[in-house]
Amino acid sequence: MTAGFDKKALVIKVQGGEVSCDFAQQTTPGVSRLKPYQPGKPISELARELGLDEKAIVKLASNENPLGPSEKVVATLQSECADLARYPDGSGYQLKQALAAKLSVDPQGITLGNGSNDVLDLIVRAWVSPGDEVVFSEHAFAVYPISTLAASGQPVQVPAKDYGHDLVAMAAAITDKTRVVFIANPNNPTGNWLDRDALKTFLQSVPERVLVVLDEAYCEYIDHPDYPNGLDWLADYPNLVVTRTFSKIYGLASLRVGYSVSSVAIAEVLNRVRQPFNVNSFALAAAVAALADEDYVARSKAMNTDGLRQLEQGLDVLGLSYIPSLGNFITFDTGHNGEQVYQTLLKRGVIVRPVTGYGLPAHLRVSVGTPEENQAFLDALPAALSEVAAL
Ligand SMILES: *Cc1c(COP(=O)(O)O)cnc(C)c1O
Repeated sequence: MTAGFDKKALVIKVQGGEVSCDFAQQTTPGVSRLKPYQPGKPISELARELGLDEKAIVKLASNENPLGPSEKVVATLQSECADLARYPDGSGYQLKQALAAKLSVDPQGITLGNGSNDVLDLIVRAWVSPGDEVVFSEHAFAVYPISTLAASGQPVQVPAKDYGHDLVAMAAAITDKTRVVFIANPNNPTGNWLDRDALKTFLQSVPERVLVVLDEAYCEYIDHPDYPNGLDWLADYPNLVVTRTFSKIYGLASLRVGYSVSSVAIAEVLNRVRQPFNVNSFALAAAVAALADEDYVARSKAMNTDGLRQLEQGLDVLGLSYIPSLGNFITFDTGHNGEQVYQTLLKRGVIVRPVTGYGLPAHLRVSVGTPEENQAFLDALPAALSEVAAL
């Protein structure tokens, strides 16, 4: 018996006959509608393609912390190596204790994930059966439709209002089949945000049987008096889940660690579906150290606030409009084909993020970097725009 591969189909030849098995056609209905997530282009990849030194490349494409990791985290990771051969603490006891103390929440309501994306996925896996509806906004974070389709749920994408969540329309989109509503505050890739009154009114209008996931990946950057802390509502809304991450202000994107805070009942369900050791020892230890390094967090926040101003002013000077952002990134209108501007910036060693896949073909998202990185982007942009205009 011999077996031969043709691109998608596995053809198994059995004595005399042939059994053809096209695996791409045999996925679950949701998976057949999925496209792979498009991450920011890695520095190493562009360096290879252009034959450039990695140090000559500026990556402002994945909302990463431009400070690099906290020194305290690096020291912690070194000591963690001694236990490499052991499984991590599957309950994440120390990190949950540290988070509970910091956030004044019940540690039993905390669920840890391999990035907060893992927790978003666990929520869908636990509550969304094939055909169940999941509501989110147009231009919202890509992981919501990915997790929904992976579970063969039905994504219900509600048209955005001024690039942001239209909460009235989202509430109206809830049906008997709705299991989960995702809200990113602020949203990625648009950066815009919802104030306390708007979100509270929304929460009041959602039936208690529908889970509301409030994704607060960027909350630690924000001081605005009208920006709500979702944790304040957990006691009043047992259907609320607040998710956060160590990938952004805490500077641990590579280690993958995030969490949700919810009722204990919801956390107990999530604990059933998660992989037994979904967060590794390095991530657990690093997160505890990062949480304690308040100086690093303060520096990250200050650099971001200044960087947002720098990028806004630079875009103003170029006469480019942008969506006001409270995150660590800004999405701006190139006035051209965004993909072409992106490609032209790549040739100049600057990686930003196209957002065509988010329904924003003329926009690009730029993450806040160091002052020098922001300037390198602002310096490269006018020539890139002229080049595209001349195409
Ligand atoms: C970056 C981001 C996250 C974080 O994802 P991790 O898996 O924790 O790295 C979650 N939600 C949104 C909206 C984000 O932009």
